Amino acid sequence: MKCRVCKRDAQISLKSYNLNLCSNCFLEFFRKRVYTTINEFKMCTPKDRILVAVSGGKDSLSLWHILSDLGYRTCGLHIILDIGEYSQRSYQQVIKFAQTKSLELRVVSVRDEFGKSIKELAKIAKRPPCRVCGMVKRYLMNREAEAFDCLATGHNLDDEASTLLGNLLNWQEGFLSRQAPVLEENYTLKRKIKPFAFISQEEITLYAELCGIDYLEERCPFSRRATSLIYKGVLNKIEEEMPATKLRFYKGFIKREYFKGGKREELSPCKRCGYLTVGEVCNFCKLKEKVLERKNLTEGGDDVRRDSYLKGNH
Ligand SMILES: [Zn+2]
Ligand SMILES: [Zn+2]
Repeated sequence: MKCRVCKRDAQISLKSYNLNLCSNCFLEFFRKRVYTTINEFKMCTPKDRILVAVSGGKDSLSLWHILSDLGYRTCGLHIILDIGEYSQRSYQQVIKFAQTKSLELRVVSVRDEFGKSIKELAKIAKRPPCRVCGMVKRYLMNREAEAFDCLATGHNLDDEASTLLGNLLNWQEGFLSRQAPVLEENYTLKRKIKPFAFISQEEITLYAELCGIDYLEERCPFSRRATSLIYKGVLNKIEEEMPATKLRFYKGFIKREYFKGGKREELSPCKRCGYLTVGEVCNFCKLKEKVLERKNLTEGGDDVRRDSYLKGNH
């Protein structure tokens, strides 16, 4: 097996591109594709300050790694979810990475915000932990991105293709219109970018390993039940039989530009915190209110405390 670029021995075989590469040429290929995606979708420029959401897993750490290697101005954002040891290990992994690469890092914690863990919040909200976690994370990421030009997340092709499949199976047309690799700034919401949108999980794993990125392998203990894993499994089975299906599926969607002509949800500022939301009060503020109601029920609080709590941290 020879590398298609330099003709030396190839160690890597990318079935979806029908391409054999040596390690060096693979890294070059990977960098080029990320760089092209960023420029093609006008995600960011070298002048921009980018907040990179980092969980400690391979996608987000690889993203932070490549963005800083490509010369972009980055700062990491880690949200401590307070899901037992998993959270501690993720936090350690992120700190270690930031220190070795001398990169700036911001840290926010769910417990500091609510005084509760995700599991407790899920009980209070009467919703699955993954839903609550996703909502809280999105809110905190948006809020922390305020001082930056854009927010980058490590969503990869597998994530995008499985979300697309889920949205199509359930005909979630509203979601389809927002599933672009870049979402433009909208009032309080900063531009969101996904530089890995066309890069598969497999390629990111190779990149992380070749670059010696030390990442946390375990998944969030709540994610096992997530439906996205079922969709990913199905897509991987199809990909095995028909390489490049995932890329074709997602690219075909992007080409059709649903997100340009699609119906967008009507967003208006939340009456409590001012962030854009559907309806009057955003889910984050609603959850804060529920947590307070509970606290007041058990301790007997007053309106002043409730008010200052709601205004705090914003
Ligand atoms: Zn080569
Ligand atoms: Zn709000």
